[in-house]
Amino acid sequence: MSAHVKVVDLTGSPVIDDHCHGFRAADLVELDPLGWEDRLTMMGMCFLSSGQTDRTLAGQVTGLRDSTVFALTARRWLAERLGVEPEPQALAAARAAAIGADPEGYCAGLLAEQNITAVIADEGYPQPPVLRAEFERSLGVPVHRVARIEPLIVALQALDLSWPDFEAGFEARLEEAASDAHTVGFKSIIAYRTGLDVGTPTAAEAGQAYDLWRAAGWPKDRGPGKVVRDYCLRATLRAARRHDLVMHLHCGGGDPDIVLAHARPQDAFGLLHDHIDQPIILIHGGYPWMAEAAYVASILPFVYLDLSEFLPWATLGIDRELEMLLGVVPAGKILYGSDEASEPEVFWLSARMAREALERVLTSSVQRDFLTVAEALEIGRGVLAGNTARLHGFA
Ligand SMILES: [Zn+2]
Repeated sequence: MSAHVKVVDLTGSPVIDDHCHGFRAADLVELDPLGWEDRLTMMGMCFLSSGQTDRTLAGQVTGLRDSTVFALTARRWLAERLGVEPEPQALAAARAAAIGADPEGYCAGLLAEQNITAVIADEGYPQPPVLRAEFERSLGVPVHRVARIEPLIVALQALDLSWPDFEAGFEARLEEAASDAHTVGFKSIIAYRTGLDVGTPTAAEAGQAYDLWRAAGWPKDRGPGKVVRDYCLRATLRAARRHDLVMHLHCGGGDPDIVLAHARPQDAFGLLHDHIDQPIILIHGGYPWMAEAAYVASILPFVYLDLSEFLPWATLGIDRELEMLLGVVPAGKILYGSDEASEPEVFWLSARMAREALERVLTSSVQRDFLTVAEALEIGRGVLAGNTARLHGFA
């Protein structure tokens, strides 16, 4: 059998992860070793991030693990990496031993093997946040941060301020975040709060709504609170423009707390159109409405798409959507991300799946005579790292 030669070979190409969440390597030792496969799946991760504790639900997460493609792939790939049989008990034991021996070294090794050279951490999750410098020590690569605005709103609510003080406090916190040299963007998860159909309230309208919202005890519905949140998001976009920062906007599905009826790319279209000359990344690329996001990014010049969540959890579905995205959107606007929010292996699994899927899809594009090998390589390297670096001004 002749050696298999890849047409489009991205082996060793650097990877920059544009969306992930902080952890401390040392804390991994405290987690239940046998539960790690549950925490690794989309359902298991969402179960944790939405604060679920129900035992019946947890049992179902475990019960479905062995029929989840992602869990089975992860088990086999990681067992191979650790040199053990792909069997849950043996793998959990080998993994726990490796982490226990050197937590930071274990995490850094996962990133180094996939040549992940930098990450952007969304510090809004978990809460309380893991400090950027701590996360950086755990990964062994530079960690940049995006400042999420919803925790700023929570902190200000706790102070029970008048509207002028709330508004001034919000602006002051935006300025403080922007003044940190490690901040490369702002982030909003308004799709988890009141939806992406963001209105255009005036300061007076926002002030009136704020008084009603405060008097009612901050209800989490689409009433007055929505007006205030819409106003704050537009203020954030003004601050991003002032400071030349990128806006990271959650768009699409997420965990069960998502306001799914108002989380689609089309819901965000008004806001995106109002900021047509300003860089905004749709974090999660509108997943599961990726074709809709692709269309939006194909007509609005400064809308970018992040691949996280869909990568790595869509597994078998990755190639199909990647082909659609690369065909529709200028590839310079597609950014690799993992949405690692649970276990460090997600960095490694996601980068490997992305690299291999890009190789397959780009090889097909060469075979079908859409691209030359050189063009395909350029596009692949851009998606994995170059596009994120350029957009966020990394040296
Ligand atoms: Zn995330």
